[in-house]
Amino acid sequence: MRSRSRKKTPWDGMESLTPTQEFLQKHYTERYEARHPALSDTGEAAMINSFPPAKCPYCGSADFIRYGTDGNGIHRYRCSCGKMFRPTTGTIFDSRKISVSEWIEYCLNIFRYVSLNADSWNNRNALSTSKYWLEKLF
Ligand SMILES: [Zn+2]
Repeated sequence: MRSRSRKKTPWDGMESLTPTQEFLQKHYTERYEARHPALSDTGEAAMINSFPPAKCPYCGSADFIRYGTDGNGIHRYRCSCGKMFRPTTGTIFDSRKISVSEWIEYCLNIFRYVSLNADSWNNRNALSTSKYWLEKLF
């Protein structure tokens, strides 16, 4: 039984793996662990925080203040309209289901002309999810 962590491979839950799949899974897992420690440890939060928002994504006002950080160390802001937001709010990185690094990996796949079918297979998403991401991206 595999550990229940954030890392996942295209082969999780598969009944039997070929030697190639086993090799790739092991390799991927090692690489994943090297690249995906907690968000706050990766510098990803710092990278996101280096892009302070210019305006409130809800009302467009520039009248907002820093308001602590979220669980990932990402800055939160509170606008005079009462809404809270982060630098990623309203961007393709808004969804914290996938990290920025995973997004970048997805984008690189797209730009290398990996097909949506292959990508959704790789990410174990429904094809509609890959299509949705593609629409978000562009
Ligand atoms: Zn606002």
